[in-house]
Amino acid sequence: MDFEHSPRAQALLRQLDQFLQTYVLPHNAAWHQAVQDGHYPPPFLDDLKTLAREEGLWNLFLPGLREDEPGTRLANLDYAPLAEAMGKLSWAAEVFNCSAPDTGNMELLHRFATPAQRAQWLLPLLHGTIRSAFAMSEPDVASSDPTNLQTTVRREGNELVLNGRKWFITGVAHPACRVLIVMARNADGEDEDPHHQHSMVLLPMGTPGLEVVRNIPVVHHHAPEGHCEILLRGARVPADHLLGEWGHGFAMAQARLGPGRVHHCMRTIGQCELALALATERALERRSFGHHLADYANVQEWIALSRIEIDQARLLVLRCAWLLDHPEQVEPAAVRAQVAAIKVVAANLQTRVVDRAMQVFGAMGLSPDTPLAQFWTWGRALHLLDGPDEVHLRSVARHEFALARERLGSLSAYFTTPEQMRTPPRL
Ligand SMILES: Cc1cc2nc3c(=O)[nH]c(=O)nc-3n(C[C@H](O)[C@H](O)[C@H](O)COP(=O)(O)OP(=O)(O)OC[C@H]3O[C@@H](n4cnc5c(N)ncnc54)[C@H](O)[C@@H]3O)c2cc1C
Repeated sequence: MDFEHSPRAQALLRQLDQFLQTYVLPHNAAWHQAVQDGHYPPPFLDDLKTLAREEGLWNLFLPGLREDEPGTRLANLDYAPLAEAMGKLSWAAEVFNCSAPDTGNMELLHRFATPAQRAQWLLPLLHGTIRSAFAMSEPDVASSDPTNLQTTVRREGNELVLNGRKWFITGVAHPACRVLIVMARNADGEDEDPHHQHSMVLLPMGTPGLEVVRNIPVVHHHAPEGHCEILLRGARVPADHLLGEWGHGFAMAQARLGPGRVHHCMRTIGQCELALALATERALERRSFGHHLADYANVQEWIALSRIEIDQARLLVLRCAWLLDHPEQVEPAAVRAQVAAIKVVAANLQTRVVDRAMQVFGAMGLSPDTPLAQFWTWGRALHLLDGPDEVHLRSVARHEFALARERLGSLSAYFTTPEQMRTPPRL
């Protein structure tokens, strides 16, 4: 396993860093002011996108792009440091057309869209002229188990009809959001096994029967792109809006999450790096009781632990990216377990590292004046979004048990138990 990034990725990283410093960061204050004033997205976003595209910093994430699709075609391992760099600024990824949930949706469309769907939705997404959302979770059922989902899709003549309620759907409030990929239970699917009862439907925004009820704040943080509750009351689309095959929604949802998790985790690592850097500088400058905070052993320990944990996490995520890039060399089950593992590691890393940084900053760390409060909120959300930690831990454990079952009994030589203890006594 080699985690060295290719020369091309290293050059792109230098270029991206330069671009962020020269064009994006200088707009950061204006971005937040514009959002606060209700001007979202700020007018300079399109100019930044045009510039990024002209510089070749566009769609950095999708390795398997076709000839006619714009982007860099980097492997997951090569994209990882770029995602880390973009992650430091909550809005930077959109400048390079690399923001969630569009990235995952583009992957999904790339794999499963018909030529007509590709032309209507995938190409505009790849060109950054529209945005999208992925609607799976529901308020009425435990959505960590997708077999629970209750929103229905009914085939009626040459149409599909959707009914139900979804929530926390990221991206719906973005003015450029034009399409939702809705995961719904097949009205005629009761006889199928639980993993073949759901389908995915492309639902254009503005379809009659689709209502955006509210944008739900996350720990009181209002995201302008939205984590929205939506209501579907007889929302009707032509039958050709089915994405993939009828009843295959479950497997498609699984397929969507692999590289997307690497992206999330690397953005998290970028945020943790920034939190650590901010905390370290603050500790060197701030004095209390006659000493700099950096002189106190507990602060030193926080800084050291954060450094160690970030480096550990990065290695694990890079390993996972490498595994995704080499499917021929690894069992799919092993890759799935790794993808689950990094999600847990990243969420825990972010809340721990950012929490320590907030403590170093004192009250300021909880204010909106630093990025820490927003990073912590996102870290807290990361324990749940794309599935809660506990479900991922369950996947990792299941994989371990599957391996153990295969080799059951093969470790007996490691025991030094006396012979008479190995056979049950005759009574
Ligand atoms: C900021 C944010 C953005 C989101 N964006 C989207 C989006 O764009 N699209 C979308 O569809 N959804 C989105 N979600 C929703 C998210 O995916 C769900 O919240 C998540 O899947 C968990 O579902 P739930 O909230 O229904 O929790 P539940 O399923 O009710 O689970 C509650 C708790 O039960 C426990 N639990 C559940 N299963 C197990 C188990 N097997 N073992 C042990 N414990 C268990 C866990 O502790 C879990 O936290 C987002 C959520 C947040 C916070």
